[in-house]
Amino acid sequence: MEQFDVIVVGAGPAGSAAALTLARRGFSTLLVERGRSPGAKGMFGGRIYAWPFAELLPEWAKDCPIERRVVRENLAFLTDDASLGISFDAPKMAQGRGASFTALRAKFDAWFAKKAQDAGAVLVTGIRVDDLWREDGRVRGVFVAPNDRVVSDLVVIAEGATSTLVRKAGLKADLEPREVSVGVKETVELPAETIQERFGLSETEGAAYVFAGSASLGLRGGGFLYTNRASVSLGLVVSSEDLSRKKVEIQEIQTKFRMHPAVQRLIRGGKVVEYSAHLVPELGAGMMPRLSGDGVLVVGDAAGFLINNGYTFRGVDLAIASGVAAGEAAEAARAAGGMTAANLKAYERFLHRRNVLTDLERFRRAPLYLKKDRLFNVYPRMLMEIAERMYTVDGSGKERLFDVVLDEAASAGVPKLKMLLDLLQGARSM
Ligand SMILES: Cc1cc2nc3c(=O)[nH]c(=O)nc-3n(C[C@H](O)[C@H](O)[C@H](O)COP(=O)(O)OP(=O)(O)OC[C@H]3O[C@@H](n4cnc5c(N)ncnc54)[C@H](O)[C@@H]3O)c2cc1C
Repeated sequence: MEQFDVIVVGAGPAGSAAALTLARRGFSTLLVERGRSPGAKGMFGGRIYAWPFAELLPEWAKDCPIERRVVRENLAFLTDDASLGISFDAPKMAQGRGASFTALRAKFDAWFAKKAQDAGAVLVTGIRVDDLWREDGRVRGVFVAPNDRVVSDLVVIAEGATSTLVRKAGLKADLEPREVSVGVKETVELPAETIQERFGLSETEGAAYVFAGSASLGLRGGGFLYTNRASVSLGLVVSSEDLSRKKVEIQEIQTKFRMHPAVQRLIRGGKVVEYSAHLVPELGAGMMPRLSGDGVLVVGDAAGFLINNGYTFRGVDLAIASGVAAGEAAEAARAAGGMTAANLKAYERFLHRRNVLTDLERFRRAPLYLKKDRLFNVYPRMLMEIAERMYTVDGSGKERLFDVVLDEAASAGVPKLKMLLDLLQGARSM
């Protein structure tokens, strides 16, 4: 029977950050990954906010498998055949603490897990943790097969959105459809020079796009596109509740999204080389599991640490920061006498210190706000009608913008007061 101070389950961004932090603090640490290698089973849209590395790995940029540094943000509203976009160009966003970059998970996760190994953590791959081992009511280790257990003082659950161990630890009830969205992604290969020319980027620069409106066929959700070095990541995140209510398959939405003229312009001539699907937690701060218990901590997506406020989509940076906070909490608990539920409660303090819980609480209303159907169908259509009337000059008599807006608001069928409230609530929650 093997024994470690800490077992971390899952070598995604959260698990590797936790294992790296724990190993550095002198804990004997086992990092268990069910995939053939870290990242083999991982998927995400493609952009990572780099701020957690400033302290954790200050030299990260030297060998991190960065595809491109994001210097341009785009937000596009789509109707069936038109698009209205906002583009924010900021080369300085590629530098400093606020930098973000595009990445491919197979390379990124492998790089990050290696950092944890270099710090002393033991990584085992191709092994799935089946259950927690409990003794006297507290978690004492894990089962990797029915009769094969590994013992530890602490288990860090970093299993991702569909974590079963969180439920087995009694920290959360089963996931409900309203608590998850479905994400799909296609990797579309394009020559690096084509990407640079088409998107107006240098060899190292990258662009990020968020698509709203008919990207998700009016269901709650949206589309994304990130430029990698020689491919683009194109995908959607759509409410699973809406998919089952409207009986639509997400693949059908992705096919239509890919064929939209505004998207086709960007991926023309490209070859789809990979397709993947994954769940996204949409818990909001109020619906998160308990984050700690006797001998157990929960990090990353397993804890529901994801912010989707309509213009930024953050999971990886929160996963990394929560992994670091878990390592710090374990150290504090060890100093206080052991991995008891009372001592591990300090985890929340470390999460606040890194603004993980603070940001989640600040945007806790966003999932509720983004539940309004009209944000995804009525308003994008209205914006497009307004833009069309603004820019059409055909000699039939021009209207002032104010009159166009009032007229379109009236034909949208949503009372003006409700629109005003939507606008105010949006500004407050997003
Ligand atoms: C379509 C889509 C687009 C996204 N886009 C972005 C984006 O652009 N930027 C961003 O920041 N976030 C994005 N996210 C969210 C991001 O992917 C997650 O927030 C992030 O991956 C969470 O990291 P994690 O380590 O908690 O979990 P995961 O990345 O899910 O890693 C969990 C790991 O645990 C392993 N595992 C699971 N169960 C076991 C077990 N029982 N035993 C052993 N190993 C196990 C898995 O194989 C996996 O390697 C996106 C998500 C989706 C689905």
